[in-house]
Amino acid sequence: MSRNVLISGASIAGPALAYWLHRHGMTATVVERAPELRLGGQTVDLRGAGRTVIERMGLEQAARDRGTHEEGLRFVDDRGRVRASFGSDALDGDGFITELELLRGELADLLYRHTHDDTRYVFGDEITGLSDTGDGVDVTFRTGPDQRFDLVVLADGFRSRTRDLVFADLARVRSFGLYTAYFTIPRTESDGRWARWHNVPGRRVVLLRPDNQGTTRATLSFLHPRPGLDRLQAPAQQDFLRCHYADAGWEAPRVLEAMGDSPDFSFESVGQLRLEHWSRGRIAAVGDAAYCASPLSGMGTSLALVGAYVLAGELSRHSAHHDAFRCYETIMRPYVAQAQRVSWFAPRVAAPKTRAGIRLLTTVAGLAAHPRISRVTARFASPPAEAVDLPSYP
Ligand SMILES: Cc1cc2nc3c(=O)[nH]c(=O)nc-3n(C[C@H](O)[C@H](O)[C@H](O)COP(=O)(O)OP(=O)(O)OC[C@H]3O[C@@H](n4cnc5c(N)ncnc54)[C@H](O)[C@@H]3O)c2cc1C
Repeated sequence: MSRNVLISGASIAGPALAYWLHRHGMTATVVERAPELRLGGQTVDLRGAGRTVIERMGLEQAARDRGTHEEGLRFVDDRGRVRASFGSDALDGDGFITELELLRGELADLLYRHTHDDTRYVFGDEITGLSDTGDGVDVTFRTGPDQRFDLVVLADGFRSRTRDLVFADLARVRSFGLYTAYFTIPRTESDGRWARWHNVPGRRVVLLRPDNQGTTRATLSFLHPRPGLDRLQAPAQQDFLRCHYADAGWEAPRVLEAMGDSPDFSFESVGQLRLEHWSRGRIAAVGDAAYCASPLSGMGTSLALVGAYVLAGELSRHSAHHDAFRCYETIMRPYVAQAQRVSWFAPRVAAPKTRAGIRLLTTVAGLAAHPRISRVTARFASPPAEAVDLPSYP
């Protein structure tokens, strides 16, 4: 079916969709606001159906080659002593740290390289206006000339502004009161091959993860009642973090010291997006732009890959785009609903307020890490990544 489709956003969902549209004989153009491919971000995992989609794209080995090869996750105390340990091979590789983890930027780069011969990419531009005329969509851009497409798909993430042009009345953000700062710091000997999780009283967490680029990925997560910290400028956010973590022990001083020189500091308020419908007329949304489940779910990348696969597949199957959009939503909704089932309580359990709470958490984690018990606990820790019947498309 020959369709000319504009995709907004070149991260995970956008290039994956471009790949599948091309496989089904359609033409894709991807417009990305950033001047070049964004390679930042922490480690994401490929689990369940998301991994199956990567396999069907013929990219499994390439993804493995670019993996971080972490050995698992350890909870450590103030003195660095291990309180609980979850290996990456636990639960057939689908536990807290899966056996296929890679940097978000590596995955974006892999998808981009796999598609750029057959897809037109436009960097440094964005959609400013969308007019659905019934038989096509007239699009205006910030810098490029006006163009007309058969369909437009928004794959431009949780904070998509393009979404507001089409779906403003249908979108609802669920906030967890949780902030997260991500940045890359120099690696030291203590970093090893394990991700290390350290709780600090006052609902604060320091997480250090080794990458495959000779550096370490640091995350500072904390619950805080003050709204709008994510809207401050980066220097003000860093000042806030220096104060907020000033009394934190373990390796926090080293992390705070390196933060100011980090090339990719980013700070966000963690939330989920609920969109009542994922399409309107000839315009649809995919990935975080439609159903961000938040990093708490561990499912964002899988949802983006599976959503792109199903959306393109349904477009190949139906001559009427509205039938394709309806089937895409019918197949994906239950999968997304499970992924978004993250309790308000979850970040509070993971980041206790007191030292006694932290002792209880690490004791329970230590018990839960026992192989016989971990199979049960992991079911509660992450949503079922296989919980979708992935259709086969010709
Ligand atoms: C730089 C970056 C770092 C990230 N780091 C992490 C991380 O550490 N941990 C984690 O769990 N998740 C992270 N994510 C989110 C993760 O990639 C997604 O949750 C998931 O993979 C789904 O991807 P997506 O393609 O739907 O959305 P996203 O990955 O959010 O990608 C959206 C893309 O759209 C682009 N864009 C935004 N607005 C516009 C616009 N108006 N016009 C055109 N393009 C636009 C963005 O620049 C981006 O490239 C990060 C995303 C980005 C962009």
